[in-house]
Amino acid sequence: MPRSVVDYFRCPESFIDFRKPAPAGAQGPGYFRFGDDVLCFATSTVGCASDPTGTLADALDQTRFEGASCILPFHPSEATNNLRYERYIAQTQKPLWKSIARETYYGLRPLLPVSIRRHLQRAWLKGWDARPFPRWPVDTTVDRMQARLLRLALENSREECIPFIWFWPEGKSACAIMTHDVETEAGLRACGRLMDFNDNDQIKSSFQLIPEGRYTVTPQTVDWIRERGFEVNVHDLRHDGHLFDNYASFARSAERINRYARRFGSTGFRSGVLYRNQDWFGAFSFSYDMSVPNAAHLDPQPGGCCTVMPYFNGSILELPVTTTQDYTLFHILETYSIELWQTQIEAILARNGLASFIVHPDYLNNGRAVETYLSLLNHLKQLRQHANLWIARPGEVNTWWRQRSQMRLVRTGGSWTVEGPGSERARVALASIERGELHYRIQHHEIANAKSAS
Ligand SMILES: [Zn+2]
Repeated sequence: MPRSVVDYFRCPESFIDFRKPAPAGAQGPGYFRFGDDVLCFATSTVGCASDPTGTLADALDQTRFEGASCILPFHPSEATNNLRYERYIAQTQKPLWKSIARETYYGLRPLLPVSIRRHLQRAWLKGWDARPFPRWPVDTTVDRMQARLLRLALENSREECIPFIWFWPEGKSACAIMTHDVETEAGLRACGRLMDFNDNDQIKSSFQLIPEGRYTVTPQTVDWIRERGFEVNVHDLRHDGHLFDNYASFARSAERINRYARRFGSTGFRSGVLYRNQDWFGAFSFSYDMSVPNAAHLDPQPGGCCTVMPYFNGSILELPVTTTQDYTLFHILETYSIELWQTQIEAILARNGLASFIVHPDYLNNGRAVETYLSLLNHLKQLRQHANLWIARPGEVNTWWRQRSQMRLVRTGGSWTVEGPGSERARVALASIERGELHYRIQHHEIANAKSAS
């Protein structure tokens, strides 16, 4: 099996052999389809288009079986990584005026009232809802691609099911993390109240603190947050929009950021405004990052990793931002309803994925915003009770995902067991085709709320 499917499902490699045909005639990278609803961006022997709209060639039409092998006209790992690492976006460089707008916006941001900021942002985000790809409000292309590959493996297999290590501990249906980026001194002062809100619903979250320029982070602040059972991570360096300007200055900043991480005792990071260059993340000494949006239509930097699952970028685990930020909800979309969040959560749960939230203590500065946040907490609490949702701190998700990546499935007699550190929390899942749909169930159990996954 290709690495991407084995790593995604943690299934044995022996079930089927995927092969790419000889590269003769390969073009691209470009866009093509893999079945009706999976868009790929990769090199391929099917026609590659430079634009994701319009009629695209379908790689599934040119997929064939030869004995135990499945011959694909593209490489699944390349197609997966081009989406996760946002390599599809390099084709459409940002026009110059946008980078000028960015400079202006970030230069002025701390001085501008929200009403002016949102006018600037709206002008700049114009047309966001017409963008076909990534799919808004949640893009699951990578997840659907892996499911399609697993299904192909099943169709060509003599086995009725393919075992894999279930995505979450103790058979939880999906996962949610709550995170708070602290933007200003006022935000820092509001953290205590936010922790009280979260504690009311037993939801422990993480706080990302800016180490330079905005406010002073004392060891007492870090201890206070941690002693209450919350997590402390590093948020950018100075939060001035310049972290990723060029590699030389980035490398110097990354060194400072790594030093602050040691000082704070942090293992996680998020950049300011989700600016990023995933190819440079190797300079960080963090264990995990939370700077990559799933579908970035409403963020200043376009793109998105098109998955609702954590993934590795070298030795760093990426926990993607899979829902809309509070600021965007309140000030760009101008709503205080949690309907959009509910829609996103539903789409993520349908893929058994990770729902991750960014809510700023700075923006919970009025009654309506607080009410909205409390409704979200209540909704998550209900899902924990009734839909078997795992609500965890990001660091706990990081620990689990790393352990799962090292576990092995072993056949003993007629059934499978999981071995390796942490395996006592792991469950064996079985993928099969039921009534024409890819279906997951946990060995000896049905998964509460697992939906068909094809
Ligand atoms: Zn921020």
